[in-house]
Amino acid sequence: MQNRAAPVITIDGPGGVGKGTVAHLLAKKLNWHVLDSGAIYRVVAFAAEKAGIPVDDYDGLLKLIKGIKATFSTDNEGTMHVFVNKGDITARIREPHIGTAASQLSVYPPIRTALLDCQRQFRKPKGLVADGRDMGTVVFPDAQLKIFLDASPEARAIRRHRQLLQQAINVTLKDVFAQIIERDARDRTRAVAPLKPAEDAVIIDTTELSVDEVFTEVVLQWDLRQHKDTHSS
Ligand code: C5P
Repeated sequence: MQNRAAPVITIDGPGGVGKGTVAHLLAKKLNWHVLDSGAIYRVVAFAAEKAGIPVDDYDGLLKLIKGIKATFSTDNEGTMHVFVNKGDITARIREPHIGTAASQLSVYPPIRTALLDCQRQFRKPKGLVADGRDMGTVVFPDAQLKIFLDASPEARAIRRHRQLLQQAINVTLKDVFAQIIERDARDRTRAVAPLKPAEDAVIIDTTELSVDEVFTEVVLQWDLRQHKDTHSS
């Protein structure tokens, strides 16, 4: 069961848009918990690869999910670390082929349902900043503030490429761009929990904005929301 008493801010959007960075900054400012929901799908993809289970063997994946003993902790920089059997797999789940596998297995509705509880357990006092694709639409529909970040595929490919190089993952910009286009198509068109803004989400196009500018806008939206709540109660 989720702790409905704790407030949630959701930050959804496509890959490479900078959701994670903004979510971490916001969680740090508010001193709240943070959920990188993509990491949960990546853990399943990583465990499946290790166990030799194909991404379309859904029964095999559902059994695998029941046995995964993953723990999560956030460091001082705000990065969510993932441990499986005490091993830190944070860097390994960032590899591009794991992202692709995560995107492929996440189209299957029972897999999404099986991961709901795990995501909702992150909702604890004082609050949670959750980033992903369906945080505002499916996982936390009662969130106090829903943000949807968007940006052109070109801008997102450049950002993601820079991020991967910083993590010493060597890929070409061309390959990153192709992966973004392919992943976008799959995430936006899947039947269940497709990537789309919640009806009550604030949409921010970040193509021309710096991280600082996006962060300032999100903080402003949160201040406005609190102001509204104070004056309507
Ligand atoms: O955000 P990240 O790139 O880590 O996510 C990997 C994949 O996991 C996404 O492409 C998406 O298909 C899937 N995902 C999802 N729902 C979420 C977060 C991620 O389906 N809330």
